[in-house]
Amino acid sequence: MSLELSAPAQSAPGCANDDDVWLECIECGEQFAPFDDIRYTCDDCDGLLEVRYAEPPTFDEFEGRGVWRYNAALPFEVGVTLPEGDTPLHEAPRLREDIGVDKLRIKHEGMNPTGSFKDRGMTVGVRVAKELGVGRLACASTGNTSAALAAYGARGGMETLVLLPSGKVAAGKIAQASLHDARILEVDGNFDSCLDIVQELAARGEAYLLNSLNPFRLEGQKTIGFEILEAHYEDYGEYPDRIVLPVGNAGNTSALYKAFRELVQSGSLDEDQVPKLTGVQAEGAAPMVEAVREGNDEVRRWEHVETKATAIRIGNPVNAPKALPGIRNTGGTAVAVTDEEITDAQRDLAGEGIGVEPASAASVAGLRKLRQSGEISADESVVCLTTGHLLKDPDAAFAAGDDPEPVPNDTEAVIDHLHE
Ligand SMILES: *Cc1c(COP(=O)(O)O)cnc(C)c1O
Ligand SMILES: [Zn+2]
Repeated sequence: MSLELSAPAQSAPGCANDDDVWLECIECGEQFAPFDDIRYTCDDCDGLLEVRYAEPPTFDEFEGRGVWRYNAALPFEVGVTLPEGDTPLHEAPRLREDIGVDKLRIKHEGMNPTGSFKDRGMTVGVRVAKELGVGRLACASTGNTSAALAAYGARGGMETLVLLPSGKVAAGKIAQASLHDARILEVDGNFDSCLDIVQELAARGEAYLLNSLNPFRLEGQKTIGFEILEAHYEDYGEYPDRIVLPVGNAGNTSALYKAFRELVQSGSLDEDQVPKLTGVQAEGAAPMVEAVREGNDEVRRWEHVETKATAIRIGNPVNAPKALPGIRNTGGTAVAVTDEEITDAQRDLAGEGIGVEPASAASVAGLRKLRQSGEISADESVVCLTTGHLLKDPDAAFAAGDDPEPVPNDTEAVIDHLHE
């Protein structure tokens, strides 16, 4: 099967472009030219598509900084850029000690230009949209995808349309989409309904779809995996044992797995050096966790989802057919955490100076839980992915933090107050 970790590189089929890039269906293997037509899924079976390269990347081809450092693994040399990527891999010594693992690093994707990892996907996705010559860009979003699309659309001089679940998007994210001049439609439904509608709009030619169903977005997001491996190796002379990440539509899980598969294909990484991909969801929106824990090959759509971590309030993870093999074939797992555990982890990260939005903190909450249950052992080196910035969701930050204390406009009174 084509999603095996050991799948060899393929030679380019006739439909490949001059760079030996093509699209391939992960279900039936049908192959398509990459930029001749607009398509998001397989014409024959509606399966998910993957971008394929005849020459998978090696570490020594990478040069420069940010997402486009990795253009040997991307379909273009450069894209519509702000620029993005090259995010910090923070140490968190107190948290590491407290949770009890050998090494702990926090890959803070909130440090991207619009404050989430979605920028990595959009720099590639908007470049592809230009190649295809489409007019309007669109996405359904729990917030961050819309902020990134709006900014990259603006940068590329293109019109953008975003569909958001009414009342369920954090303030910072709507503010971004609004100021970057996206047309914002608030749908009286959840994220999954928004995605149903925007897919239909795309199918009817109203707009070019830039949700993570679009295989080119995941190409940009692969670079998170490359950056983690390179930085960890530089610091410790070895790769991390495990990467723990929040899961919504499971695009990142799929993208990281693809990065590792391509490095294995090129002979740059041994199969046993691939980090165990470990997904975390909120208890109120955990269809992937259910599938992993019950050993199901398919993920059941949850109609009713709820969590304070609005970025992962998703009941129908569209990339599950790519992500489930990623979790299984790397020896990883998945776990659900409560909203309270998420808020605790958000405070723990803040205590190390790392400000993240609730969904991001799910990774650390999940690590703690799996460490407590013994599923993760004390000798592991772990990287937790924090996906979005604290300022994305100021209301959640206020709720998790301490209230300001009112004092009189007088130094003596302030000192008295401090000594109370
Ligand atoms: C989009 C998003 C996620 C979910 O990522 P998937 O790739 O859809 O699994 C998690 N956290 C934040 C902050 C996000 O914006
Ligand atoms: Zn197919």
